[in-house]
Amino acid sequence: MPLTPEQQAEIDALRATPRATLRAVSEGMEAHLYRAHEVLDHGFVRVIDYMGDDAAIVQAARVSYGAGTRKVNDDSGLIRYLMRHWHSTPFEMCEVKLHVKLPIFVARQWIRHRTANVNEYSARYSIMDREFYIPAAEHLAAQSTVNNQGRGATLQGDEAARVLEILKSDAARSYDHYEEMLSQDGQQGLARELARMNLPANIYTQWYWKTDLHNLFHFLRLRADPHAQYEIRVYAEAIARVVADWVPVAFGAFEDYRMGGVTLSAKAIAVLKRRLAGETVTQEDSGMSKGEWREFTEIWG
Ligand SMILES: Cc1cc2nc3c(=O)[nH]c(=O)nc-3n(C[C@H](O)[C@H](O)[C@H](O)COP(=O)(O)OP(=O)(O)OC[C@H]3O[C@@H](n4cnc5c(N)ncnc54)[C@H](O)[C@@H]3O)c2cc1C
Repeated sequence: MPLTPEQQAEIDALRATPRATLRAVSEGMEAHLYRAHEVLDHGFVRVIDYMGDDAAIVQAARVSYGAGTRKVNDDSGLIRYLMRHWHSTPFEMCEVKLHVKLPIFVARQWIRHRTANVNEYSARYSIMDREFYIPAAEHLAAQSTVNNQGRGATLQGDEAARVLEILKSDAARSYDHYEEMLSQDGQQGLARELARMNLPANIYTQWYWKTDLHNLFHFLRLRADPHAQYEIRVYAEAIARVVADWVPVAFGAFEDYRMGGVTLSAKAIAVLKRRLAGETVTQEDSGMSKGEWREFTEIWG
């Protein structure tokens, strides 16, 4: 379980004390505030705070004095225009602060997104919890034979059982030694900042992560993508569901132009034009590399 009964009680108490505010409120986001969305076996994502809504993007773009000065259709059209033409700063006017519980090896990928503010649980100050990510059977996959940076077929039978056993027993043994090093009867024990060093990368950490909508979209485009590793993708997908409720119009534009859209190179446009004129174009006379051609034909056939 990602949350203890005490943690759940704290969340319930926060949700039970609403206040009147003059600030922009997104009804969709209010429903998510403080609630934990479970991810992986012990992880979660929950919204701690947010600023702005779809109207805030429009207000900033128009540098207007109020909300709702134009029709809803105009606002939606403007947001879609901004997204289509890479006008990023109006999206930076919305911010979100998340509390995330995640395995350390996922955190290492996540922290590469530098345009965010982070505060992580201190394993110098506190003792880490005995919680490890152990993949579900369907996610225990072999190395891909076609993609060096990916996974292939799911492990089966004895092999799957053997790998699971190694993962579980190594995690348990490392944690037992961690506890043993921290303190033993009659001994002072090793400092927490040192004892943590042989904990495995599948142990869970936690952080507060704050970013703006523009950079969050960038994160989601990379990490909610099928090429991203499953274990970070599920976090991105959980966040994406929250964002869809927070700023539905901006999220719709993001899905359309970024997640669902493609960027065409000048060479790709030239090949498409030749094809539309009835010409058969091959990779050799396309001017594209083999890799570019493969990616092009994956989309255009
Ligand atoms: C599928 C996948 C595989 C990956 N594989 C690897 C890998 O093998 N090895 C590896 O090291 N990383 C890898 N990465 C991480 C990747 O290279 C990026 O570091 C990560 O996705 C963060 O992207 P970003 O820098 O655009 O994001 P952010 O750090 O959030 O930055 C957002 C944007 O802000 C600008 N920006 C931020 N900081 C600076 C700066 N200091 N100077 C200039 N511009 C800045 C850039 O325009 C940047 O795109 C992988 C990522 C993905 C999605």
